[in-house]
Amino acid sequence: MITIDGSEGEGGGQVLRYSAALSLLTGEPFTITNIRGGRAKPGLMRQHVTALEAACAIGGAECSGLAVGSSELTFRPGTVTPGEYHFAVGTAGSTGLVLQTVLVPLMLADKPSRLVIEGGTHAMAAPPFEFLQKTLLPVLERMGPKLSITLDRHGFYPRGGGRIVVDIEPAPLRVITCTDRGSFKAGKAEALVTGVPFDVADRELASARKVLAEWPEDAFASVQLPAELGPGNVLLVAAEFEHVTEVMSGFGKLGVPAERLAKTAAKRMTGYLASQAFAGPYLQDQLLLPFAMAGGGAFTTVKLSLHTRTAADLIERFTGRGFNFAESEGGAHLVEVR
Ligand code: AMP
Repeated sequence: MITIDGSEGEGGGQVLRYSAALSLLTGEPFTITNIRGGRAKPGLMRQHVTALEAACAIGGAECSGLAVGSSELTFRPGTVTPGEYHFAVGTAGSTGLVLQTVLVPLMLADKPSRLVIEGGTHAMAAPPFEFLQKTLLPVLERMGPKLSITLDRHGFYPRGGGRIVVDIEPAPLRVITCTDRGSFKAGKAEALVTGVPFDVADRELASARKVLAEWPEDAFASVQLPAELGPGNVLLVAAEFEHVTEVMSGFGKLGVPAERLAKTAAKRMTGYLASQAFAGPYLQDQLLLPFAMAGGGAFTTVKLSLHTRTAADLIERFTGRGFNFAESEGGAHLVEVR
């Protein structure tokens, strides 16, 4: 039984989700205390409960203490059973983060799975649909499994109600090296809006244009979604390279000026473009688990995040497999499975 202090390191939901995924992968039970102890509102929120319920469902696991508000739980894994599953967060909590909990165990199962996940598809502080589709899953596919993801319906905060469908054809994970992103092919900034003031998309795009001044005019576009999906607003900034596509995002929120969120997302992209790194600031922590399970591999990334350090520590505790971190050329960092 591994004991985790959920307030250590990054101290958020990732500690819990990674622990559940690692427990399913290693068969090692765990107890976690101080769940999300590093967050302003600690304890389990609806989306974390759903993520753990999903882990229990696919992994025949038993979990005590699983309730909204709980700050301690014990998880005992069973056998991972691939198949068709439907998980609903019930709020705008992230569908992508539910996926993050069960994806790697199902990629290593002995039969295919289909997951239907309902909740937020474009939720703050979580991977939006386009990041999963264009950034994360294509890298994971290079490791062997076949993965496809479709967006049936957008789900924004506070309403939720989005739906993604994910098909997973498992395969043993190959060791891959992602140190070269190849040449730049195209950039695109899209402002998705529904049920928010008309000028929001234009203001976001104008602000992103100022930062990404070298991108051509037709790289900037607004997309008006059907009103019943709203209110909702997200700016997605994608850069396609030969070997990877990175997607940075800025989520609209009451009280946050459109210009500010656009500038933040666009600047995150210029930081990535100026480096020679393969993985941006969010892809890095999401690659650690599959790379560790492959038993080797390396990738380059921008400045290491606390999420990455925390995930690496957890992986080492459950699997005994660690990572080496080193500075590499052009301000990038090399992450290597030890
Ligand atoms: P936590 O903050 O502990 O709930 O973990 C959030 C997870 O979502 C981490 O794996 C982050 O890398 C990921 N994430 C947060 N924001 C984004 C974003 N804008 N794009 C992609 N992934 C994100």
